[in-house]
Amino acid sequence: MTEIDHLDEFDGAGADRTVPVVAVVGRPNVGKSTLVNRIIGRREAVVQDVPGVTRDRVSYDAVWNGRDFVVVDTGGWAPDAKGMAAQVTEQAELAIGTADAVLFVVDATVGIQDVDESVVQVLRRAGKPVVLAANKVDDLRTEGEAAALWNLGLGEPYPVSALHGRGSGDLLDAILAALPEAPPEDFDPPAGPRRVAIVGKPNVGKSSLLNRLARQQRVVVDDVAGTTVDPVDELVEVDGRTYRFIDTAGIRRRVKEASGHEYYASLRTHAAIERAEVCVVVVDAGQPMTEQDLRIMSSVEEAGRALVIAFNKWDLTDDERRRYLDREIERDLTGFGWAAKVNISARTGRHVDRLGPAIEEALGGWEQRISTGKLNAFLGRIAAAHPHPVRGGKQPRVLFGTQAHAGPPTFVLFTSGQLEDQYLRFVERRLREEFGFTGTPVHVQVRARE
Ligand code: GDP
Ligand code: GDP
Repeated sequence: MTEIDHLDEFDGAGADRTVPVVAVVGRPNVGKSTLVNRIIGRREAVVQDVPGVTRDRVSYDAVWNGRDFVVVDTGGWAPDAKGMAAQVTEQAELAIGTADAVLFVVDATVGIQDVDESVVQVLRRAGKPVVLAANKVDDLRTEGEAAALWNLGLGEPYPVSALHGRGSGDLLDAILAALPEAPPEDFDPPAGPRRVAIVGKPNVGKSSLLNRLARQQRVVVDDVAGTTVDPVDELVEVDGRTYRFIDTAGIRRRVKEASGHEYYASLRTHAAIERAEVCVVVVDAGQPMTEQDLRIMSSVEEAGRALVIAFNKWDLTDDERRRYLDREIERDLTGFGWAAKVNISARTGRHVDRLGPAIEEALGGWEQRISTGKLNAFLGRIAAAHPHPVRGGKQPRVLFGTQAHAGPPTFVLFTSGQLEDQYLRFVERRLREEFGFTGTPVHVQVRARE
């Protein structure tokens, strides 16, 4: 491992599997979105999002002091008939269910409102670490107002100005301190059950599948040594192995499809994907595939999680539909040829027993490590058989490669000159042909020496 340790300095892959999640909670207009932008180091306008419009991306990669984490912005929803208080509380509950720590934002210039108090109640019950941001402390004069937030009983309020950046360093330090311990550099399969998220658009059969699996064998939490389980998760035994199914509360609660709820559903999906190691994307095999199905698969790929596609409701397909489905898969899922796939029926139970092996296969690919020796022998063969085309009198070359991470497999190629995208894709394809990697995204990064 020594030869790749130095990579971490310039490897911003964030490919580590245990990236912790921070959810940002608070009343409208306290500056949540501005603060999220500040944290992720971007000025681009989350703030300008049209209220009520569902955003595709609700979680963002962030890094502070070399530590990667994910920020979930719950600021994008629009108050509806239900009233603001109920929504803010719901938002807090959601955050608690899905995050490792909560960043609670209060507008120090306005002070504590009733809604803030009820959020505190929810946060207290959950027992997740909370960092309290006293926002809009743009100058020294307002700092006194920040101190008033001690009254919330959540500990020290961190005065910040999301707008100007004041105090954001201390706040980020506090957030890092609230997160679970950083995982060790070396990758070891974790103790405890693997984390699985069942995701997919509404009505594809997620809760039916969960019920089918849980009916077979629900594990009593106390039976598994050393596990603490979020109340939103369930431990379920599949094929003799215990898995932690993420955010099953969200699946079981069957959120309605009102405008705000759509946003919440997408937020939940993203957060569940972030927390999982492997995602089972359920699609309805009886219906044509949709953009939404593909978007969820893309989210899994972007998050770098292992992917199993479960074509559910197989009992509703006839020969004709299956022929169409094959064509759809060829046309729409070309980018996901690597995913593990199963055809199941949650209703009849058909082939649901294949899900366990598919999950294991995907996790196996996700965690696979290729030794530097093997990798370079492979790269040498490629260079000999298919050298990079000469460009402008120069020939870019791969000098050396190494696998910097597993979960998902992430490779770094050191090159002389820039590789063309097409060549890079060719190398990726050959990597898969050579080493498999079923069920996992594969990342290839290039460090070019000019
Ligand atoms: P959200 O609804 O909680 O996401 O709040 P926004 O981030 O959209 O911010 C609401 C308003 O407060 C916007 O006009 C921001 O420019 C403003 N704002 C946010 N942070 C600060 C701050 O630190 N100081 C001041 N003065 N205004 C801020
Ligand atoms: P969710 O919204 O993704 O959790 O979907 P549900 O599990 O609630 O299922 C939506 C509908 O599809 C329900 O009426 C289920 O009974 C039905 N359903 C789920 N799985 C299957 C299946 O394998 N075959 C058939 N025919 N119907 C199914």
